[in-house]
Amino acid sequence: MAEGLYTKRNDGRKMDEIRPMSAKVGIVPSADGSASFDTGGTKAIAVVRGPRTLHPQHMQNPKTGILRVSYGMMPFSVEDRIRPGPSRRSEEISKVSEWALSSVVDLSEFPNTVVDVFIQIPQADAGTRVAGINAAAMALAHAGIPMTEMISAIGVGKIDKTLVVDLDKYEDSEYHDGEGSTDIPVVITSRSKKVALLQLDGKISIPELKQCIENAKVACEKILKVQTEALKNINGDNENDK
Ligand code: UDP
Repeated sequence: MAEGLYTKRNDGRKMDEIRPMSAKVGIVPSADGSASFDTGGTKAIAVVRGPRTLHPQHMQNPKTGILRVSYGMMPFSVEDRIRPGPSRRSEEISKVSEWALSSVVDLSEFPNTVVDVFIQIPQADAGTRVAGINAAAMALAHAGIPMTEMISAIGVGKIDKTLVVDLDKYEDSEYHDGEGSTDIPVVITSRSKKVALLQLDGKISIPELKQCIENAKVACEKILKVQTEALKNINGDNENDK
């Protein structure tokens, strides 16, 4: 490998290749909506409850219901045990997931209510927020919550000087050669193809960032197919390695 160039991925994938995906809808029978979304070693589960009357009453909005998202990694989801309970990171991921999902959820028919989305990560190998958002979007659709369109999410970025799609943990945080790695979680809406969330951890030029967003749009088309298949096939398995 030429110095300063990331020419071969850790797991042999092509630079624009997503890890093998699988999705399932209806995994928690007692919930109003539920789904799982896995990509490689990252697994996400989402459960939806609501709409229910929001308490305390002073938090209610008489014009619309509100969406409330809670994200958490399970204690043994990574090698170093994660301390149970909220952290700065889980609070941030809950908030950004809530913003992304709120951009397509319409709760105007349900004033004074809340729809709760619980995202849990039983196994993490980077890209957990995007896997969680993919699962949550399916769980909301499964719960029959009105949505203007679906959303799909992917981590894109740059390793040294090479643009890549769907970074794993090694690429995200353990690769330090050359320029190191830049991780960019992106959420794309299914119909209008708008960016519903973009976060940037690292350094990248504007032309490279534009290319990364294009790469995310292509990847999200593939993810949307997996989500749609799973929604058509409730309680069934749906696997896809593209
Ligand atoms: N991670 C970890 N311990 C932590 C937080 C994260 O080992 O306390 C790992 C986990 O594999 C996670 C990855 O680091 O998926 C990247 O975390 P990041 O905060 O970038 O968010 P993510 O990519 O999971 O959305």
